[in-house]
Amino acid sequence: MAAFTRREFVKAAGACAALGTLGTFGTASHAKSKGRVIVVGGGYGGTIAAKYLKMADPDIDVLMIEKNSQYVSCPLSNEVLGGERDIASLTFDYKKLSRGRGIKVMQDEVVGIDPQQHSVKGASGNVYKYDKLVVSPGIDFHYEKIEGYSAEVAEKIPHAWKAGPQTLLLRSQLEAMKDGGVCYIVAPPNPFRCPPGPYERAAQIAMYFKHHKPRARIIILDAKDSHSKQELFQQAWQVIPTMSCLWIGKVNLHNLKEV
Ligand SMILES: Cc1cc2nc3c(=O)[nH]c(=O)nc-3n(C[C@H](O)[C@H](O)[C@H](O)COP(=O)(O)OP(=O)(O)OC[C@H]3O[C@@H](n4cnc5c(N)ncnc54)[C@H](O)[C@@H]3O)c2cc1C
Repeated sequence: MAAFTRREFVKAAGACAALGTLGTFGTASHAKSKGRVIVVGGGYGGTIAAKYLKMADPDIDVLMIEKNSQYVSCPLSNEVLGGERDIASLTFDYKKLSRGRGIKVMQDEVVGIDPQQHSVKGASGNVYKYDKLVVSPGIDFHYEKIEGYSAEVAEKIPHAWKAGPQTLLLRSQLEAMKDGGVCYIVAPPNPFRCPPGPYERAAQIAMYFKHHKPRARIIILDAKDSHSKQELFQQAWQVIPTMSCLWIGKVNLHNLKEV
């Protein structure tokens, strides 16, 4: 299949939108609109798609539908665990996108897409018509895939892979941990979001321990036999002896009793 660059995508979306008809919900703000693109999801993917569509052609009516009023960035959230930043510095609303860039932002959860009718349905009951649709809802958790884990258990054993309350919960557990305690990190098999994430997290927690709980240790139980940027991370863990971090690979994560 021929490669489709970001520039080509934006151009094509603009051209297609120009051929379409206007939606009925929240009709276009100005007469010369070339049609409406709806973007579902206001994460990194959705906001960047919306921004570049509008920059490519201000006459495209861009409507972004996001279920939350604020977005908490996963990138850099490990620094909250290390104590280098607070969660507020990673929390964003959508005002700049709507006021500054002329993108309409609607807070609603999309619960259905009807490609024949060119419409999406919100949990609010609203139906939004589009000419072109960008679907960027990210990924979600399948707790049932890990035996014994669930959303309830995650309130005690946080995964912190969705930035926000989970990040703060893990941070507070680290703060409450006694000096000399052990923090386990379980790293999943590939593929998973953000391959360096667990090791970057270990480094941040190790830094916190180094300054506040020098006798505490981290043990990473990894399903893989190697990991992203391994040499770099392990160099840091070995060179600085107080960063007590042990990585164990090829762990059968279904049988942790054996470890
Ligand atoms: C700890 C951690 C650290 C990371 N660090 C980095 C890094 O340093 N660099 C990097 O490039 N990546 C990093 N990543 C990966 C990065 O977070 C993801 O690749 C990125 O968030 C994906 O963006 P997205 O827009 O596809 O999805 P998301 O960021 O998940 O956004 C999806 C949005 O869609 C909304 N949504 C979902 N369903 C609906 C619906 N039905 N209706 C309306 N809205 C909906 C959600 O509320 C959300 O706002 C990290 C991830 C983690 C977990």
